[in-house]
Amino acid sequence: MPANIEQFSSKQIQIPARETIGNARVVFSGWFVNFLHYAQGSPSALSVNGKSYPALAVDLASGTGDPDSYFIPNFSVDPDSIRTISADQLLSGQLESGLLTGRSVIVTGDNLSSEADIGYFGHGLVKPLALDIAGAASVSAGRSANVGSLPLLAAFVLFFWLCSRIRRPGGRRLAYSAVAITLLLSPALLQTVGIYAPPSTALVATGVYAAVRLWSKWRRQVLQTSASGLPNFVALSDASLPANHDIIVAVIGRYEEFLATLPANLHAECAAQVARRFAVGSGVEQIFHGENGHFAWIERSWPIDQQTEHFEGMRALFSAPLLVGGHMFDTNVHFGLDRNYHLDVVTRLNTALASANEALKAGRTIAQFEASGLADAPWELSLLARIDEGMKNGDIWLAYQPQWDYRAGRISGAEALVRWNDPVRGPIRPDAFIVQAEKAGRIDALTYWVIEEAITATQAMASILPGFQMSINLSAQLVDKPSLLSSISEIVRRRGIDCRQFTIEVTETAAVYNRPAAVQNLQQLRAMGFRLAIDDFGTGESSLLYLAELPSDELKIDQHFVSRILSGEREREIVKSTISLAHALRQSVVAEGIEDRATFDLLSRMGCDTGQGYFIGRPEGFEQFRETCMGSRLREVGS
Ligand code: C2E
Ligand code: MG
Ligand code: MG
Repeated sequence: MPANIEQFSSKQIQIPARETIGNARVVFSGWFVNFLHYAQGSPSALSVNGKSYPALAVDLASGTGDPDSYFIPNFSVDPDSIRTISADQLLSGQLESGLLTGRSVIVTGDNLSSEADIGYFGHGLVKPLALDIAGAASVSAGRSANVGSLPLLAAFVLFFWLCSRIRRPGGRRLAYSAVAITLLLSPALLQTVGIYAPPSTALVATGVYAAVRLWSKWRRQVLQTSASGLPNFVALSDASLPANHDIIVAVIGRYEEFLATLPANLHAECAAQVARRFAVGSGVEQIFHGENGHFAWIERSWPIDQQTEHFEGMRALFSAPLLVGGHMFDTNVHFGLDRNYHLDVVTRLNTALASANEALKAGRTIAQFEASGLADAPWELSLLARIDEGMKNGDIWLAYQPQWDYRAGRISGAEALVRWNDPVRGPIRPDAFIVQAEKAGRIDALTYWVIEEAITATQAMASILPGFQMSINLSAQLVDKPSLLSSISEIVRRRGIDCRQFTIEVTETAAVYNRPAAVQNLQQLRAMGFRLAIDDFGTGESSLLYLAELPSDELKIDQHFVSRILSGEREREIVKSTISLAHALRQSVVAEGIEDRATFDLLSRMGCDTGQGYFIGRPEGFEQFRETCMGSRLREVGS
């Protein structure tokens, strides 16, 4: 406002010359108006050529006025209540007595009526003089106040912050509009009560805020849209998740291969078709598209068996091939499910994603990672160091499980089974940590440590049980490694062992990367004198193929079959014919998982060579194992 006053005073005001007006006081009447030509306020004084002239309102209120201050008329003064008296009435003296007592009288000329009218809040157009009188009322009451632009700005910040916290997008939009309109109207409303709050700063801030929000919304949309045009996983991470809702990630097997055969302009169509099927199958409208063949959505939680059935149904939906621009594809789909409701969306999405990849890898319909599995992640990441430490400090140790020679009627050897008692986590199952050791690239060290320990135990047993046989498990990850032979040869040389006392157990799994190299390694180990055993026979990927390719000496029938030979006729037949098959190939047969006398005896009658299982003896530390071998329990087995 001072800038306006300055401009107003110096350029447009002409003060009558002193010679013309003598000593008369000079006051002014001038109002700033808004775009509707309604009065907003007036400077308290004008400074013209270094001299200050008060506003008429200020003069009426017996004030002096300050060129830098500003006042607003008191709009509660009713202009119609301002008493006017004609000149004739005044001059003729026909006035009610006391009418003028204690009042200021303003005498105006005829030309007053020709003055332009100004808007007066609540009363339409009035003569400016009415505003001067209302102004005098507010100046004398000390009510005029220019509160500056800060209060409106603060109100703007506060309200917009409150709006931004509203979760429902529709509600938020409504609140923003309401606040913007209120802020726009508030200067006018405040003026009616004599408060001037310039809205310019708040308006500029509103404009900037709106622009920033629109820009970030646009940017988010760009960032949150996958190449297929569907919202991507960033968008899903941003979504608010209702309580008890699952995040589901579906992965389409070989999706990249489809895309590679499709022209680029059909990629979006392909994704849209897949998304449509998921939308139909799940009944959820919003499908998100991640990298390659990953799609996700949020769905109300169902009991897991129903959910699994539902996924099977969805798989059926995908059994019809996709037809994109004349190209036809078969699809198969796997699902990852996250129900870790207490975790944040990003972690949950990653869990569902990892689960879907796991399901794809394992060829299963659905996989679900538990939160406890997630809690393992940091532990697994430090596994490398822990395995080294465990081998050194005795947390990792070897258990020995006796093997019974049916023909000799005595213990003929043992299988070395690794154990891990973590001081924090307690005993950890070997099949769990061996997989982790394989992933961490620490399986070599662990295996060579097992071999060294088993050699020590075998040497100690030699005097108790002559011809003692020790079986050692060899990881599928290691079996095809070029370094395997040299490492084992080095151990053999250093420890001076007779390789014929050791049986190397291998399992046929998909994890064998280089099959010919694995077969070659095993053949060479056999040539060194080691016996070879095919472990878990009947459960691997292609046990018969392994049996054909590998010159093995022993076949270990998996406990799955052994434990069912009493109850299941089919299992009994499988075991019987496996024994015949093995004998025909000049292999000896070990039955794993014998838990009772009846099974033990039946296997004996079937012609099984060796038995292993809790009935004969549980895996135990070396000292206990040695005692078991010499103890009465074994006499019971043999009886
Ligand atoms: P596996 O080689 O087939 O070992 C037999 C598993 O059956 C052992 O489980 C043993 O404790 C269990 N078992 C023995 N008798 C019975 C029985 O009567 N009933 C039942 N229910 N189970 C019985 P464990 O020790 O948990 O080992 C699991 C697997 O971990 C082993 O299967 C083997 O594949 C692997 N593993 C163990 N130690 C080593 C090792 O030093 N190196 C490698 N690479 N793998 C190992
Ligand atoms: Mg084994
Ligand atoms: Mg086994």
